[in-house]
Amino acid sequence: MAKQRMLKFVTVERDMPEKRPPSLRKADFGEIYGEYAREKAAEQAGRCSQCGVPYCQSHCPLHNNIPDWLKLTAEGRLREAYELSQATNTFPEICGRICPQDRLCEGNCVIEQSGHGTVTIGSIEKYLTDMSFEEGWVAPIRPAAERTESVGIIGAGPGGLAAADMLRRQGIQVTVYDRYDRAGGLLTYGIPGFKLEKDVVMLRIAQLRDGGVNFVLGCDVGVDITFDEIRAKHDAVLIATGVYKSRDLQAPGVGAKGIVRAIDYLTASNRVGFGDTVAEFESGELNASGKRVVVIGGGDTAMDCVRTAVRQGATSVKCLYRRDRANMPGSQREVANAEEEGVEFVWLSAPRGFAGETVEGVMVQRMRLGAPDATGRQAPEIIEGADYVEDADLVVMALGFEPEDLPKLWGVEGLEVTRWGTIKADFRSHATSLEGVYAAGDIVRGASLVVWAIRDGREAAESILAYVSQGARVAAE
Ligand SMILES: Cc1cc2nc3c(=O)[nH]c(=O)nc-3n(C[C@H](O)[C@H](O)[C@H](O)COP(=O)(O)OP(=O)(O)OC[C@H]3O[C@@H](n4cnc5c(N)ncnc54)[C@H](O)[C@@H]3O)c2cc1C
Ligand code: SF4
Repeated sequence: MAKQRMLKFVTVERDMPEKRPPSLRKADFGEIYGEYAREKAAEQAGRCSQCGVPYCQSHCPLHNNIPDWLKLTAEGRLREAYELSQATNTFPEICGRICPQDRLCEGNCVIEQSGHGTVTIGSIEKYLTDMSFEEGWVAPIRPAAERTESVGIIGAGPGGLAAADMLRRQGIQVTVYDRYDRAGGLLTYGIPGFKLEKDVVMLRIAQLRDGGVNFVLGCDVGVDITFDEIRAKHDAVLIATGVYKSRDLQAPGVGAKGIVRAIDYLTASNRVGFGDTVAEFESGELNASGKRVVVIGGGDTAMDCVRTAVRQGATSVKCLYRRDRANMPGSQREVANAEEEGVEFVWLSAPRGFAGETVEGVMVQRMRLGAPDATGRQAPEIIEGADYVEDADLVVMALGFEPEDLPKLWGVEGLEVTRWGTIKADFRSHATSLEGVYAAGDIVRGASLVVWAIRDGREAAESILAYVSQGARVAAE
């Protein structure tokens, strides 16, 4: 039965080209970056002092050789700069756009530390790769020789795709399974298009497909095919399924119409951006147009929701967070962007409940920061008698994500998980408790960053390559 369904999905995958976007044309890059960027990139790269203590590099999860590719950029040796930057990063154009650089490379630039403003490392990385696509310098995936070993990857997000890229370049037969109809994971359906243009993501997916990676889309592992079937089909398996269970809030009125989950809201918005018809968007359920929107949460997902609501034409957008600005988990740069766009942040505020059968308002309780908790963070405390109602027609809950219970969902005994439900995997080899099964990205780390998923995927691919090569040697002996 599962086999028949699989055939259907393979057919869907073959039909995929009609969903492929037109490749980015020269004019597109020209419009976005143009000659100005070439000069700007060189000027910015020239600001790097070559300090000799590259904290930028050590704070980049991929340990990109930033000082050297900045030097090459400043000297106008752009192709060499690109080659160096892509040597350690599978998707530099994506990281350049959406890494929280203020917490990673740029935040640790010594020029930033000395108060003179960081070298804009992310923008230069983005520019170099976009320009390299334009110039035809991005090498297609052409393995020197085909190999017989096959690897199944569950999850087409950045973790799975980074591994697919590395393995395919070595000639391994790679099949990527994903329950969505498009590959990319949160790059495609989570992160909004104004932060990460979808053509940029689709271009990479087209490159992987053209390089021989087989995508089986619309295939929910555990429903359309079992995990054991995937294991039986391949010599090794990588689990890169991310974390998708939204954290809920227990509060009176939480089930009211008009209270929605961030992932549903952002997915609908991204689908509309692709030109899909989304019933819940058409009906207004997942559309902020003309509404007073309140987003609850202080992470990057909340920032994406408020900025999406602004673009959809909300009449007002407020963000409630129970701690203050200095203690929020989201990027300060994103808060500044949102404020510039007219979003109002209501710090030290938490929802106590919701008014209306169709939501009319959020009952807000004011908070103050009390004594530090076990982690050293100041715990928010309620200020009694300071409650008020924040009017709202649409409330978006952005309280974070947790892993799904994969061993139960997939009926897999022996797949060990942590007490948080993430998969237990060796932090270096990414091997799980099951022979030949590896795991990478958010499903191991919990909700994290694209750049960490890429690093995990690349490292897991190395271990998988060693594992399947060992198997091939044993078979030959
Ligand atoms: C709204 C939002 C905004 C974000 N913004 C940023 C940002 O600006 N910068 C940044 O660095 N990070 C950001 N992140 C975090 C980042 O997107 C993730 O850390 C990263 O995508 C994790 O990659 P992954 O490959 O582990 O998982 P994912 O990208 O989640 O991909 C997992 C894939 O597995 C598939 N899958 C799951 N279960 C199954 C199954 N049973 N069968 C088949 N397929 C399955 C899913 O459909 C999905 O395609 C954001 C996250 C969110 C939610
Ligand atoms: S991958 Fe991210 S952290 Fe590393 S250099 Fe690029 S933008 Fe900075």
